[in-house]
Amino acid sequence: MDYLPLFHSLKGEHCLVVGGGEIAARKVDLLLRTGALVTVVAPTLHERLQGLAEGAAINYQDRCYRSEDLDKKVLVIAATNDACVNETVSRHAKQRQLPVNVVDAPELCSVILPSIIDRSPVIVAVSSSARSPVLARILRARLETLIPAGYGRLASFLHGFRQQVQTALPSLKERRRFWEKIIDSPAAEMVFRGQTEAAKQWLEAALSGADHNPPGMVSLIGAGPGDPDLLTFRALRLMQNADVILYDRLVSEAIIDLTRRDAERIYVGKQRHFHALRQEEINNLLLRLAREGKRVVRLKGGDPFVFGRGGEEIATLAEKGVPFEIVPGITAANGCAAYAGIPLTHRDYAQSVVLVTGHLRNGTVNLDWQGLVQKQQTLVIYMGLSGLSAICKGLRSAGMPADMPAALIAQGTLPEQQVYADTIAGLPERIAGKRIHAPTLLIVGEVVQLHDRFRWR
Ligand code: SAH
Repeated sequence: MDYLPLFHSLKGEHCLVVGGGEIAARKVDLLLRTGALVTVVAPTLHERLQGLAEGAAINYQDRCYRSEDLDKKVLVIAATNDACVNETVSRHAKQRQLPVNVVDAPELCSVILPSIIDRSPVIVAVSSSARSPVLARILRARLETLIPAGYGRLASFLHGFRQQVQTALPSLKERRRFWEKIIDSPAAEMVFRGQTEAAKQWLEAALSGADHNPPGMVSLIGAGPGDPDLLTFRALRLMQNADVILYDRLVSEAIIDLTRRDAERIYVGKQRHFHALRQEEINNLLLRLAREGKRVVRLKGGDPFVFGRGGEEIATLAEKGVPFEIVPGITAANGCAAYAGIPLTHRDYAQSVVLVTGHLRNGTVNLDWQGLVQKQQTLVIYMGLSGLSAICKGLRSAGMPADMPAALIAQGTLPEQQVYADTIAGLPERIAGKRIHAPTLLIVGEVVQLHDRFRWR
């Protein structure tokens, strides 16, 4: 190990930055975030530093560097574009045993600055020991995606409980186990969402006795249209913390594979004709599992609130006072349109988008055809395959031109995606006799003609 990582407390301490360019400005910003008192020495100043100097946020010395500038400083950063000046600053600082950093010149440094993930008070620092700053930055970016934005808030929140936990759990081992449990608990999720009062109650319930089961919670999660890369960070985190996962037909296997290995997985796929009953069963199952104290994830294809019956599933929970949250997902309209190169709106072709279901009721499609046929409007029809001919006929009967472009997208966003682009007059025939794999989405409107130009996969 070439360097020892230390976190330097700079609040109220004097630091020196030599140089007034953009890089110096970035270092100044960083120092100011720690509460340091920053002096900048440079003959000219970058715009942003000028603003800081005018607002007296920094002490600006409008001249070249002199060795007295190091007096009373605890840290020095040289960021000029003059190698000679940088070298002099480094030499002087080292003579005085002052920590010094010279940008892009590790051999002149006694300390180097890591890449930082700031979730204050949680701070993660990544360094390549100056071997490859780019590598460190990339690693940092990857870690950014793993560390929830709310971790800082969580750390502060938990800090407020230290005393209480210490009193309730005298043994160190017990305390450690308790904290470990909390980090992935519903209480942590509540803190991320800013519901600190609810989190406090949860924590107190968990502390009040070993046999007491604090309430679980249900996360109703939109898993997107199929490509696992389209999950949100929050969805992924919850999936990896869950005790139980309930999923149905639309959730791809690749997505299920991302859930916690030892979580219980329950398939609750619906069969068309038993909707009413099955839905009620799912609602009750969610309720029961959450009441057992489990972290329950209910995975839905696309977005739970777009033709996902998400509202029905949480209604029971809301009524019974079981904590729940809703995580949006990319709905099929967005996913399929993007992956087929069809902009849903476009200045020249469409100013509005309508999402409708083409689900057959008693063998017929009941849609307000007149209302749907509007100029400069894109129609996205979910569950429209079995009613496709009826839909195209209905639109034409309400005055939509026969040559209106229309596309059927099957298994959108998945590697198997197929796009059948035609017109409302031609599409039914075009797909007749073809083996089309569910799920499919129908997009109707002028924007569909852009598919040929914007196709990218
Ligand atoms: N909540 C989901 C929709 C559920 S309804 C969402 O927001 O996307 C089910 C319908 O969604 C399917 O019949 C189909 O029309 C559409 N759909 C979902 N995923 C799809 C995909 N990958 N490709 C094409 N259509 C899809």
